[in-house]
Amino acid sequence: MNLNKLLRKNIKNLVPYSSARDEFSGDGKVFLDANENPFNAPYNRYPDPLQKMLKRKISDIKGVSREQIFLGNGSDEPIDLLIRAFCEPETDNIVTIDPTYGMYQVAANINNVAIRKVSLSPGFVLDPMNVLHAVDLHTKLIFLCSPNNPSGNNLSRSAMLHIVRNFKGIVVVDEAYIDFSPGNSLLSDLQTHQNLVILQTLSKAWGLAGIRLGMAFAAPEIVAVLNKIKYPYNLNILTQQKALELLENKTVVENWVSTLISERKRVSEELEKLDIVQKINPSDANFLLVAVNNAPDLYQKLIKLGIVVRDRSKVHLCADCLRITIGSPEENDLLLKALKTF
Ligand SMILES: *Cc1c(COP(=O)(O)O)cnc(C)c1O
Repeated sequence: MNLNKLLRKNIKNLVPYSSARDEFSGDGKVFLDANENPFNAPYNRYPDPLQKMLKRKISDIKGVSREQIFLGNGSDEPIDLLIRAFCEPETDNIVTIDPTYGMYQVAANINNVAIRKVSLSPGFVLDPMNVLHAVDLHTKLIFLCSPNNPSGNNLSRSAMLHIVRNFKGIVVVDEAYIDFSPGNSLLSDLQTHQNLVILQTLSKAWGLAGIRLGMAFAAPEIVAVLNKIKYPYNLNILTQQKALELLENKTVVENWVSTLISERKRVSEELEKLDIVQKINPSDANFLLVAVNNAPDLYQKLIKLGIVVRDRSKVHLCADCLRITIGSPEENDLLLKALKTF
């Protein structure tokens, strides 16, 4: 991979904004450099633009170096920045699997970048040859998602690595649900693959969807590109503080995850007993994609009882499917009780 050839020319040549905190980040005593208000500490100060404390912590937990970490306002930010950095509008394209997370398409559409969708095989299986066949000279990015949303299954590790090895552009693997699927992360392949970007988030297993913190792990050269084009202060002080707090408290998160994984098994087994349920797709995530008799009708019946699931029946390969998030044991009981009355 040749990063300079892959990048859009204007991004390669861009001189980034240099903030006061970029130019001086040591231990000053009196900060009169950023036109901040001296009152209302600590919120009067601009946040650290490169989130050094937070990256140190994440680096320990994930076993990657700080230079391999980009932090954004949710995973949505690195998704958008990657497309903006590499794809020339009206010329370049991205390749995604189908079905998958909707944000890749939205971000491509916003940037006026074409998207080529490659259908997964029955059972939501990834065929790496199909993906590589969709690639042309203008394909800059391939988006994979494992465990995949909305199907819930892991993609095969060797299939993903086959794509990484045989594509001259960048392969983004979205691992938003990886904590529910221990042992399957491609994080350990980062060192050996310069064109691999891995997305993770604090929004799912870490229970922090509200603070908006997404992580991209990649070669330092790619991280540097993202840092160059992001908003200077993309992560606010409150988000950085709250994230640090929870990252110090990993066992709480591990307990949530093990509860959710055992609830996933229980809910799946209970659903299996119901006549209205046709198929439960195996899940490595915190949700189940369930084929039922007449999904839109069942969706409405649940809504009437105040229970909201996601109707995915119009999505490719998801006919009559509802996507059901695994909730607390009490919430899951309410769902199962309701379903038994229909
Ligand atoms: C939920 C989800 C995310 C999370 O996005 P954030 O912006 O980090 O909240 C990312 N990717 C996939 C596939 C998801 O389902």
